[in-house]
Amino acid sequence: MNAAADFKTRAQTLTRDLRHRLLIQTALRKYEVVRDRTKAQFRDWEAARQAAARTKWEAVNHLDKYLNELVGKLEARGTKVHWASTGGQAREIILGIIREKKARSIIKSKAMTSEEIHLNEALEEAGFEVVESDLGEFIVQLRKEAPYHIVFPAMHLTRGDISELFTRELGSAPTQNPEDLTMIARRVLRQKYINADVGLTGANFAIAETGMISITENEGNARLTAALPKVMITLLGIEKVLPRLEDLALFLPMLATAGTGQLLTCYNSLYGGPRLTGEADGPEKFHVILLDNHRTELLADAEQRDALHCIRCGACLNVCPIFRNVGGHTYGTTYSGPIGSVITPHLRGLQDWKHLSYASSLCGACTETCPVKINLHHHLLQNRRNASKQKPALIEKLAFKGYAAVVNRPGVYQLVKKAGRVLQKIHPLVRGTRADPAYGWTKTRDLPPIARQTFKEYWRGRNAK
Ligand code: SF4
Repeated sequence: MNAAADFKTRAQTLTRDLRHRLLIQTALRKYEVVRDRTKAQFRDWEAARQAAARTKWEAVNHLDKYLNELVGKLEARGTKVHWASTGGQAREIILGIIREKKARSIIKSKAMTSEEIHLNEALEEAGFEVVESDLGEFIVQLRKEAPYHIVFPAMHLTRGDISELFTRELGSAPTQNPEDLTMIARRVLRQKYINADVGLTGANFAIAETGMISITENEGNARLTAALPKVMITLLGIEKVLPRLEDLALFLPMLATAGTGQLLTCYNSLYGGPRLTGEADGPEKFHVILLDNHRTELLADAEQRDALHCIRCGACLNVCPIFRNVGGHTYGTTYSGPIGSVITPHLRGLQDWKHLSYASSLCGACTETCPVKINLHHHLLQNRRNASKQKPALIEKLAFKGYAAVVNRPGVYQLVKKAGRVLQKIHPLVRGTRADPAYGWTKTRDLPPIARQTFKEYWRGRNAK
């Protein structure tokens, strides 16, 4: 696998795909309008961002303390807590629970951590039926695709695409009506909930103070996933912990506003343990799996630790000019866009995934929009620096040596500048062809002309007047 070459190929194809670009940009423009309207309802959005960043800093910098508190409270109410150091361990734990229960079918609500550990593939390989219950996830599962976006998994599809898919896969009549399409999926899913032996969810937050898992969603599917099957499994990254219950008063509206432009997501639920005697619903057994999968290595990196503050709102993807042009699948990763480019090298290897840190204009729009103030575009620069420190590319080394040799010698610099001015006159003859020494650049971009006058020349001329 060459992730960088695959990224480049897909990016080149999709940037030329005008239908795809129009679809994504139209969707994201609508998002921007509602997000701005909702943000304006905050008395002070900047103060809210500061407070959220402070709280996440506190949680992440005292993760040991808050995780122990969370686990103690969950266990006291009869929840079985598991620690998974790797994705492989998490899959084994989940398979173990499912086999012990002698389950056949699993219903899932949205969980990016399960995408991260490739859970569906592992469950299907082991012979279990696994069904996504979030509408967008259900759609991409039918298409055998990964989610396109961490919040909007099927944003790359039109109603027509979904209608065609349902007709082909579910045998439904074609329709462009969103309500009808939803009802088709709902009819299929209702039976799946009833048949499922195990429900698997992700989590948006985990509250240390009360030992509760917070799940926020718009369709009510996570509630059904948690309430109907006899066994509930929640898989979450260790960074999801928040110190106090009252922190949700800030984080739930911030996540909704930054994520979808809603003031509050429709359903906000808290789960603290299995069903107690006398309770009408809920699982008989509740398992919580705390996933590390390289997060503690990121925690040990004082410079980039704040990437663990991420609440997966997807806002940085929405504003990123690269994401808006190349789309989510191009990245080939679970987490795409700026946050994906920052954390994937930590999760899956710096050398194999460093190219994502170069897929950025460094405009800073991601950092500016992030509700928990992660310094995203600086982290992209740090990834670039770390990658070239770890394994310098020969061509880069030579280029920078050459550059230093020129700029450190004023005489040579003057000579190169004069030669550049002459060469740029004949450059149009070869521009954009294989004979062009700057072909790598000029095949898709213009080469800016050398200024007619340098600052020094200007200054000398000014003083001579
Ligand atoms: S990095 Fe910030 S903006 Fe991006 S998904 Fe995470 S919280 Fe949202």
